[in-house]
Amino acid sequence: MKLYNTPARKLEEFKPQDPSNVKIYTCGPTVYSTPHIGNYAAYIYWDLLIRTLKANGYTVHRVLNLTDVGHLTSDGDTGEDKLEKGAKREGKTVWEIADSYISVFKNGFEKLGLIEPTKWARATDYIKQSEALVEKLIDNGFTYEISDGVYYNTSKFANYADFAHLDLDNLKAGARVAFSSEKKNPSDFAVWKFIKEGEDHAMRWDFLGRPGYPGWHLECSSIIHTELQEPIDIHTGGIDHIPVHHTNEIAQTYGAYNKILANTWLHCNFITINGEKISKSLGNIITLEDLETNGYTCADYKLWLYQGHYRSERNFTWDDLAAARNRRLSWRNKIALIFQTNEHVLGESDFKAKLLTALNDDLNSSAAFALIDASIEQMTLDDWQYANELFGLDLIPEDITAKILPRIKERNAARDKKDWPTADNIRDELLSDNISLLDTPNGTFWQLTK
Ligand code: AMP
Ligand code: ZN
Repeated sequence: MKLYNTPARKLEEFKPQDPSNVKIYTCGPTVYSTPHIGNYAAYIYWDLLIRTLKANGYTVHRVLNLTDVGHLTSDGDTGEDKLEKGAKREGKTVWEIADSYISVFKNGFEKLGLIEPTKWARATDYIKQSEALVEKLIDNGFTYEISDGVYYNTSKFANYADFAHLDLDNLKAGARVAFSSEKKNPSDFAVWKFIKEGEDHAMRWDFLGRPGYPGWHLECSSIIHTELQEPIDIHTGGIDHIPVHHTNEIAQTYGAYNKILANTWLHCNFITINGEKISKSLGNIITLEDLETNGYTCADYKLWLYQGHYRSERNFTWDDLAAARNRRLSWRNKIALIFQTNEHVLGESDFKAKLLTALNDDLNSSAAFALIDASIEQMTLDDWQYANELFGLDLIPEDITAKILPRIKERNAARDKKDWPTADNIRDELLSDNISLLDTPNGTFWQLTK
């Protein structure tokens, strides 16, 4: 299996440390608002990764975190904590906000048919471990304290810039004008923030002699240390995580434990609308509920995503989603025909091996789909089941042949007698159940209309 490893900037043969088990960590959502289809894209792409690893015979131990503290609106060390902002917006406590959006996210995850992680890890359940990590960093001389918190001194980590290929000199030059904080280097980041007197921050822990809360990046290093032990095999996230969040996770784990955090790093690109990233601030968000309201299923959206590649930016349009829905429907109807003709129920082919080969090439789902289209007249039920397991696209329809056959017979008998009203009635009744009839020289078959 070949995967594109971000720090190496190339495809590499994937080899887990334990030949049978893969340790994976996925940076999860900040649980302060309803996720949009762009947010879910990452989890859909990585679901294909998990399924492909399983198809290759690996067991997968995967942790997905839920950020319920410390992620500030700037994505840096300034601004408001997103959870506090959500609490004010909805007139609830931060804990209520976290609970309710964790449940929204998990519902979406389930609706999308994504394989559950081995462990959901909530940041505030790891405060003790996060404090221990900060203490290690302090003891190892990687931090300094300023008025608003404890900061990681990035100049202490010689390889800080390597992961994201950062140009630190440029960053310094650019920051000189705006850079007026007490930080020693523009890239330094908070591992622990202090809460000033009168500051409105409900989530707080007494540590280092005063109230405070963890920096955003801290939870990932401490959850990985606790649940998976570094180095892990694969770490996944969005491309926006590369220059800051993942760079800082790596720096923390190095500073505290002198360890590499992960061997392979995968990053997915953004979903845009009219070329602009879907985001709350641009006001162009579409939710899973919006898809359903417009007559689409989560599986239609997944199929649309898999028509492209996780490393490419994808521009979403409703027309393209409609085309994806049609493609999925045509595949489901091919399977419906197999049920009725008993053709291609059994049989041996090299389809499955070819499909896995396509996905083993850095999750090349569009090549895998092209293979399905090219093989579609020969695919067996077993082939379809295999494809369905890999993509989780809810492709196999219920086999309603036994139920529908008497209706088809009645309708054809009516037609033979030129009893058009009866024939039309039956057809209309079936249509209202989303079933159409396909008349062919080999007989009449049911098909799905949606
Ligand atoms: P946020 O809650 O806004 O921090 O988003 C969480 C994560 O969702 C981000 O770190 C991105 O990796 C991902 N994300 C946000 N917007 C998009 C988008 N338009 N397309 C794909 N992924 C996105
Ligand atoms: Zn993370």
